Amino acid sequence: MSIAQAHTDLTDDEPIRPEFPQEPLLQDDDDPAPVKKKGKRRSSTHLKMVPETLELREQVRDAASEFSRGLDRARAFTRDELEKYGRELLNQMQLPEKYLGFSMVMIGNAFWKQQFLAIPFNRRMLLLPHCLKHAEGCPAEYTQFGLDCERCGACSIADYKVRAEQLGYKVLVAEGSPVVLKIIVSGYIDGILGVACLNVLEKAIDKVLIAGVPSYATPLHSGDCLNTKLDETWVWEVLDKYEPLPQKPTTSYIPLMRAAAGVFEDRFETLLPRVRTLDAARRSTPLGFTEDVGYDWLARGGKRFRPFMTVAAWYAASGAQALTTGAATPEIPDGVARVAMAIEAFHKASLVHDDIQDNDQYRYGRETLHRQHGSSHAINIGDYLIGLGYRLIHASRDYDAEASLDVLNSMSTAHIRLCDGQGAEMAFQKSPDWNLTPLDALQIYALKTSPAFEAALYAGLRLAKHPLAKTDLVSQFCRHVGVAFQVLNDLKDWQGDSDNKLVAGQDAAALRPTVLLALALKDATCEQKSELKQLLTTGEETLAGPQRIERLREIFNASEVFDKAEVLVERTREKAESLLNDIEDVSVRDLLRFFVETILARELPPTMLEENPGILVQLNTVTNGSSSLLPIIGGN
Ligand code: SF4
Repeated sequence: MSIAQAHTDLTDDEPIRPEFPQEPLLQDDDDPAPVKKKGKRRSSTHLKMVPETLELREQVRDAASEFSRGLDRARAFTRDELEKYGRELLNQMQLPEKYLGFSMVMIGNAFWKQQFLAIPFNRRMLLLPHCLKHAEGCPAEYTQFGLDCERCGACSIADYKVRAEQLGYKVLVAEGSPVVLKIIVSGYIDGILGVACLNVLEKAIDKVLIAGVPSYATPLHSGDCLNTKLDETWVWEVLDKYEPLPQKPTTSYIPLMRAAAGVFEDRFETLLPRVRTLDAARRSTPLGFTEDVGYDWLARGGKRFRPFMTVAAWYAASGAQALTTGAATPEIPDGVARVAMAIEAFHKASLVHDDIQDNDQYRYGRETLHRQHGSSHAINIGDYLIGLGYRLIHASRDYDAEASLDVLNSMSTAHIRLCDGQGAEMAFQKSPDWNLTPLDALQIYALKTSPAFEAALYAGLRLAKHPLAKTDLVSQFCRHVGVAFQVLNDLKDWQGDSDNKLVAGQDAAALRPTVLLALALKDATCEQKSELKQLLTTGEETLAGPQRIERLREIFNASEVFDKAEVLVERTREKAESLLNDIEDVSVRDLLRFFVETILARELPPTMLEENPGILVQLNTVTNGSSSLLPIIGGN
């Protein structure tokens, strides 16, 4: 039977899932140009005020507690749902919109409080902000994982830290949800007690709350990082309280994230046995080199998000029982685990090659492969990883041979499309087409970004024999999500971040065919267009780097490019979400909604750990009274 024939059946008598669409991938209404500012997300600064008096703060907290009684506790809410609840609460209390962030946090607390209190102390994390420290006299040093408090007693950090560690908490004096989520996924904690300003909590909502992590937050009264205050009693009344849960807890994706990570940690070489380097002594020989480096690159580093998509899709589509945060890590069959590994192998191969093309210096906190071993070796190892991906899919045939063939077909299609997209981008860079339209740019995005999401999702659904795998809904969904993700990345590219040493405008400087550039070319005046061309081709000769980027920014602003891109993100997100209404299976629908929220989470460039992802994080534990190194998952 040919691959094409095999692809025609999900079971012996069922019709096939259509081939991936070749052309066109986008429709005219993806062009955002005619749209003005309608729908753009505004700055949220004016929505993040903390009520000025304790009396009012307590009133909002109590009302949120009452409000949350009516919420469905079977599943975590989305960000939009939480915002809707926050607005409803403010309306009920006749309070102004400026307290929206605070009311959302209070509702989140009320929703999760009982589940947080049911987590044993030694499975909790206390997350404190470094801005609570004594401004002048603090002797503590910063490590790469935050402030290493010396417990001098000059501020309340020491009080919280000492008591929390006595109880068994892990304590981190740092900022940022990505690191926390990674620690949770690593399996060491199940819930978070956090103190943070509303700016930080806003980001945490995207990453933590919607993943189903029981959390309880006490907001700082201001976000200015200086002499900031909080309602300390709110922390203490939760910190040392433990109450077994009286009701069924909310479902969570954390056990599945752990399961996906576990495939690469505990089962890696069982699922993909070494061939040439079983004997460690052979790893330093020429014949062992490629396997050793390839295995190391595949096993280490990365968020494992794509393998998680496959594992979670398989799990949700299998009709398995919903999981809660504290649940045991679910068992993933070898065949499903191997396909998830194959997804990661293809992804990492593309990154190795991408790093060469872009001459990137670091990946996963290490030097990129071509920097370590030279481009020839890196190209070869990228190719080797593709070979490993095929081997893994072949090995998954024991689970379901027909499904393995379909997965192979979808992955090869994804691979071809990715190369088409990457090739189009490089061709543009080599020989710019100044007639580039927004639709051209979006077409490239749909080719470059969406197929990897689609292949990961399709694999899980197909292995579970879910009917959705026979439709093109997943393809459409991933196209919208992938495009929105890429446009968001374009916008983030212009945010820069001096703390993280990220320089704004690098995609533009590299002459990438971004949708921002296409929008500018479409709507700029003749003079602006010709200046754009000059800046992007010979600009370095007339304007130094930062000035050139700033001039580009001015031209983009003049054409309202950033506003239009914001509209585009919202429009494609809405399209992805509207497709979910057609999915009857609640588990699968909720999972896809979670993907939208996670992939399109709005966040400034990630924190130090995401950019420089150590594989280890140092946390003080009280189990042995000393520091211990806990593995976490890092990177892309
Ligand atoms: S208690 Fe810790 S954080 Fe606070 S001032 Fe002293 S050393 Fe710094």
